[in-house]
Amino acid sequence: MTTLRLVLGDQLSDSISSLNGCDRAQDIVLMCEVWDEATYVKHHKKKIAFLFSAMRHFCESLKRQDYEVEYTKIDDPHNAGSFKAEVKRAVAKHAIDRIIVTSPGEYRVLQDIQQWHVDLGIEVEIRTDDRFLCSQEAFTDWAQNRKQLRMEYFYREMRRKYRVLMHENEPVGGQWNYDAENRKPPKGDLHVPPPYLGQVDEITQGVLETVAARFANHFGDLEPFYFAVTRDEALKVLNRFIQQRLPSFGDYQDAMIEGEPWMYHSHISFYLNCGLLLPLECVRAAEEAYEQGQAPLNAVEGFIRQIIGWREYVRAIYWFKMPFYAEANFFEAARPLPSFYWTAHTRMNCLHQCVSETRENAYAHHIQRLMVLGNFTLLAGIDPKYVNAWFLAVYADAYEWVELPNVSGMILFADGGYLASKPYAAGGSYINKMSDYCKSCSYKVTRKNGPDACPFNYLYWDFLDRNRDKLRSNHRIGMMYQTYDRMSDEKKHAIRDDSQKFLDSME
Ligand SMILES: Cc1cc2nc3c(=O)[nH]c(=O)nc-3n(C[C@H](O)[C@H](O)[C@H](O)COP(=O)(O)OP(=O)(O)OC[C@H]3O[C@@H](n4cnc5c(N)ncnc54)[C@H](O)[C@@H]3O)c2cc1C
Ligand code: SF4
Repeated sequence: MTTLRLVLGDQLSDSISSLNGCDRAQDIVLMCEVWDEATYVKHHKKKIAFLFSAMRHFCESLKRQDYEVEYTKIDDPHNAGSFKAEVKRAVAKHAIDRIIVTSPGEYRVLQDIQQWHVDLGIEVEIRTDDRFLCSQEAFTDWAQNRKQLRMEYFYREMRRKYRVLMHENEPVGGQWNYDAENRKPPKGDLHVPPPYLGQVDEITQGVLETVAARFANHFGDLEPFYFAVTRDEALKVLNRFIQQRLPSFGDYQDAMIEGEPWMYHSHISFYLNCGLLLPLECVRAAEEAYEQGQAPLNAVEGFIRQIIGWREYVRAIYWFKMPFYAEANFFEAARPLPSFYWTAHTRMNCLHQCVSETRENAYAHHIQRLMVLGNFTLLAGIDPKYVNAWFLAVYADAYEWVELPNVSGMILFADGGYLASKPYAAGGSYINKMSDYCKSCSYKVTRKNGPDACPFNYLYWDFLDRNRDKLRSNHRIGMMYQTYDRMSDEKKHAIRDDSQKFLDSME
């Protein structure tokens, strides 16, 4: 019996379940770069180059381990353009009896694969993706009878289950969460270490040429290209983070500095999400750094929470709530995305910086995504479908399972509060406190109204006013209405007027 083992572009792990039990003398591993996936949103050029190069390197590594790999490049003349069509071609070519694939990261792709046994008339086994630490069944058990889900409680369960930073049955240090010690503003002389800069080898060079030729009209700078594209390189990125950045990760987790896109973050999401790194090895490396006295608890706990907490939580919610999640639009927001999300041409320096860095690096760190890029789309009432399409296209770590809950749940509150207890809405003072962007902005962050006032300031109140019916009873944001209601009519009028003018000018 010959089995076709399909390995998708975000399944680049030796331990991927689709390869379990593979008969290397008989079975065929199929990997394919397909047009449908590279273009269903117009992904950043660096993202496409990163994934194609990582896939080609992974294919070489499988071949060295004696797997029989059939690999279709994007510009192969016989490339059939979609997963299904490529599988169909391989089935015919190799007289395949059954297909094995690990469950994909996107609902859309799973729906497609679930039809293959009918469409292709062949047995298809879809295996669990056991690289994630929380199975869908475990999450359903935990979530089922809860009205509202809270990440913090989920995270504690994960800490207990995997015995991470635990001392017997208590959290190490006596607290579960050290966020109160984190989030320092970027004051003083901060020396941010340089990021990992990978070398372009022959394989990557070939990919860069293809991407330049075939995806010229996609967003983003293709070069310089410096991502890690093999597991060995990804491990170097992780080790470098643990040694150089982790000690300051907690303190400056929310800080933003002009010209410092990488800050003290880990930059491992690209590698975790495509399988070059595994979540538990990253968590254990940070835990060990704490045990060896190389990094403080607030930093280590904060980093670990992002991985076994947020990352697992958003993924579980995605599968729990699809397909509803993709349609959710609690505020009925309907505006189109302003063009400066692509061009960076805006007088708002914070947005100019974050979009420019996104264009250069296919990366922005969490607070840039949440409190600048995301916050603005929330306040301006941008339709979630445009916001999701943008976030999915522009980041090299973006896959729908992680992008959609972060965008629709965390920033847009489009799910009405299932994922987050309140919208992360903020005026200019938050951005001013946590960054140096306002210093060189042509708007004045301290002004609340008028042509020079920071747009975040009046848009914040206008957002609350527009959505009073939906937010008034929210216990975490509802009290802001008392402040708004105490404002004079003249002030309220100025807020509405400035907001209207600004939003109209955007269109
Ligand atoms: C609007 C918005 C969109 C986002 N889209 C994506 C996306 O498409 N892909 C993606 O991987 N992350 C996304 N995130 C989460 C987070 O911003 C990125 O994971 C992080 O910026 C990646 O950089 P890093 O590796 O340096 O992370 P660090 O700050 O060093 O964090 C360590 C790791 O924790 C995980 N993590 C942290 N926060 C989250 C989170 N909220 N959800 C899931 N995992 C998290 C990531 O795997 C990350 O690599 C988004 C967040 C927001 C607010
Ligand atoms: S003043 Fe307002 S628009 Fe300008 S950088 Fe600060 S927060 Fe952004």
